[in-house]
Amino acid sequence: MKRITKCIIIIVMILTVCGSVSAEELYPVYPKAWMNRNAHGQALLKYTDYNLSSNYTQISVSTASNRWAATASGYQRVIVSVASSSETYRVYHVAATPTFWINKVGDEWMNDAAAIAFPYGSNGSELNQNSSSPDIKGANIYYPDNTYGDGTTGLFEDNYFESLSTAKKNNVICHETGHALGFGHVSIGTSVMRELVDDMSSSLSTYDLNCLSSKYPYS
Ligand SMILES: [Zn+2]
Repeated sequence: MKRITKCIIIIVMILTVCGSVSAEELYPVYPKAWMNRNAHGQALLKYTDYNLSSNYTQISVSTASNRWAATASGYQRVIVSVASSSETYRVYHVAATPTFWINKVGDEWMNDAAAIAFPYGSNGSELNQNSSSPDIKGANIYYPDNTYGDGTTGLFEDNYFESLSTAKKNNVICHETGHALGFGHVSIGTSVMRELVDDMSSSLSTYDLNCLSSKYPYS
C-alpha cells in the first residue's frame, strides 16, 4: 500500500525492531533501493513539480524532499536537486485531475488518500507499486488537484490533501519522496514512513536515518 489514508490501516505490519534487522526487512514494501546513485552510492533525487498548482508549490516540494538529504553515520546519503529538462530520471510531483486521480487510487480511496507514488521504468511507463524491477528510473507522485474537492464536480466529497495544514502537506510530500527512494510503510515510532498522516514525523527519525544508511551505504 502506498496510499496515505486517514482511515484504518488495511495491512497491519508487525515489526520487531532490533539491531540485526536489515532496512529491507524494516521497510518491507519496496524490496530494493532503486533510486539512481552516484559512485559513492548516494541516491540522486532530482525533483520536478510538473503541473503543480498554487497549493502544491515547488518550495514545499524542495523543503520536504530536502529532509532526506540528511546525514547518517557521517555521510550524506541523498543528494537532492531540481531536475533539468535533459535528465532522464527524476521524481515528478503532479497535481492530478479528478478522473486521473480516481483511476490511480480507486473509488474507495479517492476521498481518503492524500497522495500516491508510482515508480516508472526507463521507457517512461509506470510499474507496479511494489515492483522490484532493476529498470526503475524515477517516480511519479500524484496529489489531487486543488481546484477540485469543493463538491462542485461531483467527483470528490472533499480533497483530503487540500484540507491538511501546510506542515502536514510537507510531511506527506516527504513521505511520498521516501517511497520514491524505495521505502515502504512502517508502523513504529516516529518514522516519516508511517502510513497515516497524523502519525507522520515532521523530521527524519533515528530509525529513518539508520535505514537510509543501510539502504544507501556510502563507499
Ligand atoms: Zn505511503
